[in-house]
Amino acid sequence: MTMLRRKFIQQGSALAAGALLIPRAFSKPLYQDPWTISMLNKTTGVFTEKGGTILFQVAKDNIIVVDTEFPEQADHLITVIKGKSSRPVSVLINTHHHGDHTSGNISFKSMADQVVAHANSLKNQRTVAIRQKTEDKQYFPNSTFTEKWSGKFGRETVSMHYFGPAHTDGDSLVYFETSGIVHMGDLINNRRYPYIDRTAGASIKGWISVLNKTLTTFDDKTTFVFGHATEGFPVYGKKEAIVAMKSYFERLLEFTGKEIQSGITKEAFLKNTSIPGVTEWVGDGIERSLTAAWEELTESKQS
Ligand SMILES: [Zn+2]
Ligand SMILES: [Zn+2]
Repeated sequence: MTMLRRKFIQQGSALAAGALLIPRAFSKPLYQDPWTISMLNKTTGVFTEKGGTILFQVAKDNIIVVDTEFPEQADHLITVIKGKSSRPVSVLINTHHHGDHTSGNISFKSMADQVVAHANSLKNQRTVAIRQKTEDKQYFPNSTFTEKWSGKFGRETVSMHYFGPAHTDGDSLVYFETSGIVHMGDLINNRRYPYIDRTAGASIKGWISVLNKTLTTFDDKTTFVFGHATEGFPVYGKKEAIVAMKSYFERLLEFTGKEIQSGITKEAFLKNTSIPGVTEWVGDGIERSLTAAWEELTESKQS
């Protein structure tokens, strides 16, 4: 928006100076949608604005929505969907409970009867809502599963897989089988330090194993949708992003293990600003990875 405004101002002053830019200046849009939609095939796309990436499909016989960001963002997507179809949403799915993926559920309340998530995602969403006194702002999942779930909607078969605790203890991989697309939720933060939510049962060792299972379960043609990406990196891609994230966690655990063995204090360890061998996960946010790794490794040592 800032860039756009600056451009407009420049053009405005060019106009004032009497330059011959008038037709061009007015052909430029003065308003831009705050969201971005990238279509992955004819009917299926990703929506990003604020929060975790939304995957949606609007086809002739069905509408599927995976994750909902926040109410305002969900309303934006609903406007787009209503412009294409007057059908209700066949199924609304949450990859996991975090607020940047489920807060917008409430916007879909009158449009979607079925909300599906892993049983632990519902448990976590309830726990957080009770703690934050936001129960009235939630539209909770009304259909849960523990290992695998599947349903057919129009031409699309959707299956949900649970490979164990990772980012939380309730992360689903949501597979659009017909389209060959998997929404990974926050299991992939593309080149971005992830939140490792130990208050909701996260495990870095578990996360590595979930990513290994992902690599063996889906073929090389599969497109993966990522919950988040650092600026300049896409919110969807191929297996390469999964391999990269897995290697980040392996290096994080290896480094943390060595540091613990060296007898360093936790305070000193947390002052590290990089992890040896890691070149793509950089910048702010490293402490949450270091803290989670330290706690996970020292905890398993005691048990
Ligand atoms: Zn997220
Ligand atoms: Zn999350």
